[in-house]
Amino acid sequence: MKVLVAVKRVVDYNVKVRVNADQTDVDIASAKMSMNPFCEIAVEEAVRLKEAGIVTEIVVVSAGVPQAAETLRSAMALGADRAILIETAEQLQPLAVAKLLAAVIKNEQPQLIILGKQAIDDDSNQTGQMLAALLDYPQATFASKVVIADGKATVTREIDGGLETLSMNLPAIVTTDLRLNEPRYATLPNIMKAKKKPLDTTTPADLGVDVAPRLKILKMMDPPTRSAGIIVPDVATLLDKLRNEAKVL
Ligand code: AMP
Repeated sequence: MKVLVAVKRVVDYNVKVRVNADQTDVDIASAKMSMNPFCEIAVEEAVRLKEAGIVTEIVVVSAGVPQAAETLRSAMALGADRAILIETAEQLQPLAVAKLLAAVIKNEQPQLIILGKQAIDDDSNQTGQMLAALLDYPQATFASKVVIADGKATVTREIDGGLETLSMNLPAIVTTDLRLNEPRYATLPNIMKAKKKPLDTTTPADLGVDVAPRLKILKMMDPPTRSAGIIVPDVATLLDKLRNEAKVL
């Protein structure tokens, strides 16, 4: 069984991003970039399914600037077999990514498609859902457990106040939640091996997809800065401040 995993290159989760001067975007020109953490979980799940003998081939796909090839190499160092880079300088919105992935999936015919539940840069949480709609495939989002057997995926999902278990026919789309697994670190030998694994490059035009943005960002703002706290000497002062300054009592 072939599995396809979509991985996004995003600003590293440790970087504190700043809004640019004209408040139209965040300034990440020189920021450290990494694989989206939910995509690492998606790759790890595919690798575990391969180690369990259920999956025979893992194809990783990323859409974006040429440097996204590094993200694909990282995914191959974790255990993916080959990679496809859809190269474009356009800012990609989730609908464009979903259309690009749908085009690749039509060529590749994987039985299982795993995405992160959201990208930590735009926090959209849309691509997997849009992809399922475009392909008319069943989907299970926010997966915390995935079992593949008898041509079906049984997926446990984290929902408000509990867990939901779904059974879907393959091919199907799964998006990963934080507790699905704990991704491994790539070993040096595997990083070296990944350099020799196949990486094909294509473009939105080759795939016949128009990636022009459909949404316009009107304005971006930093969250309001919080004023510094103070230490009060005793409970009486605290009550006085709550009553007369904060006026919450
Ligand atoms: P989003 O809908 O933007 O929050 O992203 C959810 C998931 O869609 C990510 O975790 C990836 O698996 C996938 N995805 C989003 N953008 C891209 C991209 N440019 N290339 C590959 N996969 C992507």
